[in-house]
Amino acid sequence: MSNVNELLKKIPKVDEILKFFEKSYNRDILKYTLNRLLDQLRDRIKRDGNLDFSIDSIVEDLKRSYEDFSQGSLKRVINATGVVVHTNLGRSPISEEIFLSVKDIVCRYSNLEFDLDSGERGDRYFHSVEYLKLLTGTEDAVVVNNNAAAVFIILNTFGKGREVLVSRGELIEIGGSFRLPEVMKESGAVLREVGTTNRTKIKDYESNITENSSVIMKSHTSNYKIIGFTESVPLDDIAHLAKKYSLISYYDAGSGVISDKMNICGEDTILNAVKSGIDLVSFSGDKLLGGPQCGVIVGKKRLIEMIKKNHLLRMLRVDKITLSILQKTLLYYLFDITKIKLYKIFNSDIKNLEKKAQSLREKLLNKGIQDSDILVLKSKGFIGGGACPEDGIDSLVVGIVLNEYCEKASRILRSRPIPVICRAEKGALLFDMLTVFDDEIDYLSESIAYALGEIR
Ligand SMILES: *Cc1c(COP(=O)(O)O)cnc(C)c1O
Repeated sequence: MSNVNELLKKIPKVDEILKFFEKSYNRDILKYTLNRLLDQLRDRIKRDGNLDFSIDSIVEDLKRSYEDFSQGSLKRVINATGVVVHTNLGRSPISEEIFLSVKDIVCRYSNLEFDLDSGERGDRYFHSVEYLKLLTGTEDAVVVNNNAAAVFIILNTFGKGREVLVSRGELIEIGGSFRLPEVMKESGAVLREVGTTNRTKIKDYESNITENSSVIMKSHTSNYKIIGFTESVPLDDIAHLAKKYSLISYYDAGSGVISDKMNICGEDTILNAVKSGIDLVSFSGDKLLGGPQCGVIVGKKRLIEMIKKNHLLRMLRVDKITLSILQKTLLYYLFDITKIKLYKIFNSDIKNLEKKAQSLREKLLNKGIQDSDILVLKSKGFIGGGACPEDGIDSLVVGIVLNEYCEKASRILRSRPIPVICRAEKGALLFDMLTVFDDEIDYLSESIAYALGEIR
């Protein structure tokens, strides 16, 4: 114990440490980061007892923390995981062209909610509606913060205090933060579970309709598949049944593929969902659509108008950055889908992936890494974002054999100025070429060589 107290007393005074820093350092940031460092140091002394530190080591640490702090913690990373729509890594990347094309809307004033014809107040959702009509065949549309919000506002508008019928096989949870039963409870709608986990028939819905029913909801079971003895009811049957009993039919499509050209393992398009006669369909903007984070609701005009009249919509409102990027993304679907970044990734030519893998391998060899430590292997990348859980996309990985050093190397890679995120499998770090962009190979090779240099 006395050792601990002595060590704590040995920690230099704040003013002593700050003397090492020139005027150009921002004092507020310095003091803030230093206090954080010293707290951590005290914790470690109390935990580990004996600890080596000096004023020099503290000054070094502070310089590094100051740099980190000044750069901002939210930054670009290299995604070498092979998961294309990776929720933790910002989901879908947006093309530079689309991003730059909205610069003036974002950096200047815009007609976001201003009707240029009448000179009066306009509708912010208007800017996406025409394109959504063309692309999805819908009558009208509204956009909210994300698809979870879309589910919420639909259930709140039409299901509050009433019953919403959902198949037991579709009571989904996504990434822990979205559980359909919880969202439904918060919306005020009462969940009426029908059928069983693996089989639900149209009769199961029909026999559960009561005077208090309002919505029949179907969910895309995005992140799992019940395989074997299963049965679920197709969209047009749901739409038909809802109409027969004057109920509203709603499909939570999850990922939202709006073009066949994406051609993603049998994911159906929103156009086909709308064609099935379903009243309302919702989907994410930043999953397979490849746009900004938002939730798009398409469907019958009369119902969209009711959603727009719901006061809670104000709390789920999207801003000009989201709406302008969404508008441009939809426009590129109409004019030139190859400009959508996800389209390019999903349609990656295996030859191009091979080229990237070979180029990375050669660069690593040039940096003195042993041929026998570098593997180029066939692999499967993942769509992510809950789509097609069991199907992968053909890809190639470059593997570096590291055995017990895997964890240490991946920690070093994550701490690079542009952090590199990869997979670890059976004693090797794997770098999946599917999600690494062509112009990132150089940096990736340097980072890998650096990490190897540090551990050996
Ligand atoms: C992803 C998903 C959601 C949640 O969407 P967010 O855009 O993440 O809010 C809801 N339902 C389904 C079926 C999904 O796949």
